[in-house]
Amino acid sequence: MKKLYFLTGTQPLYGPETLQEVADQSLEMVQYLNSKTCDEVEIVHVKPVADPDSIYKAIRQAEDDEDCIGTITWMHTFSPAKMWIKGLKILRKPMLHLHTQFHESLPFDTIDMDYMNLNQSAHGDREFGFICTRLGVKRETVVGYYKSERVINKINKFMDVARGVAFSNNLSVAMFGNNMREVAVTGGDRLESQIQFGWRVNYYAIGDLTTIMEELTEEEIKNKISEYQEKYIVPEDTMPQVYEDARFEAAMDKFLEQEDVGAFTDTFQDLYGLKQLPGLAAQNLMDKGVGFGPEGDFKSAALGAVLYEIARLRDGGTGFMEDYTYDLNEGKEFVMGSHMLEVPPAFASDKPVVEVHPLGIGGKADPARLKFKPVEGDALQICLIDLGDRFRLIAAEVELINPHKETPKLPVASLYWKIKPDFETGVKAWLEAGAGHHSVLTTALDLDDIRSFAKFTNTELIEIY
Ligand code: MN
Repeated sequence: MKKLYFLTGTQPLYGPETLQEVADQSLEMVQYLNSKTCDEVEIVHVKPVADPDSIYKAIRQAEDDEDCIGTITWMHTFSPAKMWIKGLKILRKPMLHLHTQFHESLPFDTIDMDYMNLNQSAHGDREFGFICTRLGVKRETVVGYYKSERVINKINKFMDVARGVAFSNNLSVAMFGNNMREVAVTGGDRLESQIQFGWRVNYYAIGDLTTIMEELTEEEIKNKISEYQEKYIVPEDTMPQVYEDARFEAAMDKFLEQEDVGAFTDTFQDLYGLKQLPGLAAQNLMDKGVGFGPEGDFKSAALGAVLYEIARLRDGGTGFMEDYTYDLNEGKEFVMGSHMLEVPPAFASDKPVVEVHPLGIGGKADPARLKFKPVEGDALQICLIDLGDRFRLIAAEVELINPHKETPKLPVASLYWKIKPDFETGVKAWLEAGAGHHSVLTTALDLDDIRSFAKFTNTELIEIY
């Protein structure tokens, strides 16, 4: 179980009775929040901290606890903020500053100085906010009564991002082959990506995988085919090619577990020992949260896995996408997104069907892939690039549309979208920001989630909306 440490700030001046009330009320608050927030994360109530030493120790413990993904801080009373400096200087995990109050309404008839002493987050949280800003502490600030649905929703969103940041820090990415020759945007500083995002990006030979493929039993391959048949429509005449994807994916399942890998890249320029580029297999792996980047694009692979994890408990889909071609009718322009095979079935509005067609690239056998009709609605397109001296995220709000046209000669699934605020402005901004043709598309996350992820990973973010 993941944990968030709940730190209630106070000071010794108020005497033991008031401090006991601070402890009781913050515990009640934590219990309420636990009953309303994500089941995968437990908010752990820490005894209220009233001096520099207890603050430092509580933050030290949060940092040392492997299961702890961050902290929630709240100043029930005033808590002089110089006491927080030593502790905040070692804080690295994401923090949510919960600016709330134990009571919703002001008790006009009974309010006295005791009440004022106890309920002064309006006062104490300003002192705390100041020292965080002075120290450059990255945090999400959530403002309002703690029982309000809006506040609970924001705490849940923070929990998702905090889980995602913890996931990112432990993510291992396998590159089968290297980047597609001569391509610029899929490259980048792998070492720096580990320093900034925690991604261990390592090279593997495709032979590391084909060796596992050769050792598979027929039963293991059959089980994978059954998995496909449960999720997708698999016509009988596609079976020989589906068999090859099943071999690839059954071997990948073993490889991912063995090497503790959560995302991978492949490239059509390195398919030694494979009969074809994996299409169906890559699509099905993405559907289960394994990050995927084609043409050696490790940044899209890793970002896909991380954003999937942030979105995992929500409705909607998240996966790899590529800007491919346009409809440029003035004023009604839209993008058609697709890839040579690997379009995530998370964006299907009907049951995907396996089809087999030739692939004009890679010089291998005809591969299987899933085709389907696309979903419609709000989505976000996110791209990560390496500018040489820093990474940059670009996030664009888009609207997925369905032009309700058949594409009988197109052998792959495709999506259609309008970028905001309008085609000219949005695409111009995308190009001038340097965002590439590979991205992660999600119908489960919004700009606030990406802002939060960018903040906690110290990443520059360009927003297009
Ligand atoms: Mn591509």
